[in-house]
Amino acid sequence: MSSKDETGWLIKDVRVIDPFRNVDSIEDVCVDGDKIGSASERKDYVPVDGQGLWLVPRLIDMHVHFREPGFENKEDLQSGSRAAAAGGFTAVCTMPNTHPVIDIPSLIQWQQDQAKNMGLVHIFPIGAISKGQQGQELADLYQMTRAGAVGFSDDGHAVMDARLMRAALSYSTTLGRPIIQHAEDHELTAGGVMHEGSISQQMGLGGIPEEAESVMVWRDVELAGLTGGILHVAHVSAPGSLEALEYAKRRNLRVTAEVSPHHLLLTDAAIREWNFNPVTKVNPPLRTEGTRQLLIQAVRQGLIPVIASDHAPHHQDEKELPYDEAPFGISGLETFIGAIFSVFMVDGLISPLDLFRRVTVGPHKVLGIHYPGLTPGAPADFTLIDPQMRWVVDGKKFYSRGKNTPLQGTRLQGRSVATMVNGEWTMRDQEVLK
Ligand SMILES: [Zn+2]
Repeated sequence: MSSKDETGWLIKDVRVIDPFRNVDSIEDVCVDGDKIGSASERKDYVPVDGQGLWLVPRLIDMHVHFREPGFENKEDLQSGSRAAAAGGFTAVCTMPNTHPVIDIPSLIQWQQDQAKNMGLVHIFPIGAISKGQQGQELADLYQMTRAGAVGFSDDGHAVMDARLMRAALSYSTTLGRPIIQHAEDHELTAGGVMHEGSISQQMGLGGIPEEAESVMVWRDVELAGLTGGILHVAHVSAPGSLEALEYAKRRNLRVTAEVSPHHLLLTDAAIREWNFNPVTKVNPPLRTEGTRQLLIQAVRQGLIPVIASDHAPHHQDEKELPYDEAPFGISGLETFIGAIFSVFMVDGLISPLDLFRRVTVGPHKVLGIHYPGLTPGAPADFTLIDPQMRWVVDGKKFYSRGKNTPLQGTRLQGRSVATMVNGEWTMRDQEVLK
């Protein structure tokens, strides 16, 4: 064995932002082997100066696409895990729209084994709702749960069949795991490549109306009411969806939602500014300024308890196709913290504790994963963040194979400077160590 088990680290005078314990204060944090230690135990810690830095435990991105198996030219488990570490994440949930689709227990197990071998990031896999994501027959949700799946989604596609969705939601009550819907009525979005509005009309590009999302969210909320099931709505981007979430909240249904940083930071005006470069092409599409403000408001109010990247890397060649033909997706892991900082922290729209609640406690709760926060004996998973660091996004420097970012050249404030997983540094000073 390495000396890992004996190494102790002492992060001194760091601002601990621990939403699991509701703590925001200057503390010393020590690490004993792979666990959080207690300072009184030993004297031979390696000191790390934490002054001016924030320390946040167990940042988890509950929506990433690592593309393996099947599309390793876009991303694989290793390149994706390295991107996660660089972005400051200690855990991710991988979406199952790979080839083959992750719809059987052995593939769920395989992903977790790979993650353990790499030691870069915890992977909590999400299994498919339907076999092959074909939307016709339920996959074996029970056996996948036993193998470690933390939720189920046909992400990339919506479950269009209401009867199948009803069955999945019914199962979720016994499994205790959420059904994660990529909410989109495919009949309404057919041929669409960007938000349907004045810009799509001016440009003559096929539009994706906000209602294509919200009609599906309303349907699913009703089905959650019918079944008592656990519903989580992925990447919300429409005012009508927010109304449906409010309705679900009033009825005390088990319904949650997430939003992606690009929908909080950008609008469809970026498509014109980028002169129709497909780096802005994403599904759901970038919306209007009015919708963006409503989404920010919903995060502040807690109506949206989770922020997740929807990291969707693609090969450079595919993103250089014409706007109509290029695939949807943004490489989001490595800009995540800078993006949410720029939206919420720079103007003080939300407290640091509440912001990071949406990347820690929020997703852990949705997925039913227990993490106690920074208490002695907890797995030593945390991120050091420099809240003052200003930096310019350069996709070419991403660890991800997907260099496709509409934030290319954007100046952001706030960046992860170190990531620790199970007591081992996975990234320091933007350098991934594995
Ligand atoms: Zn999706």
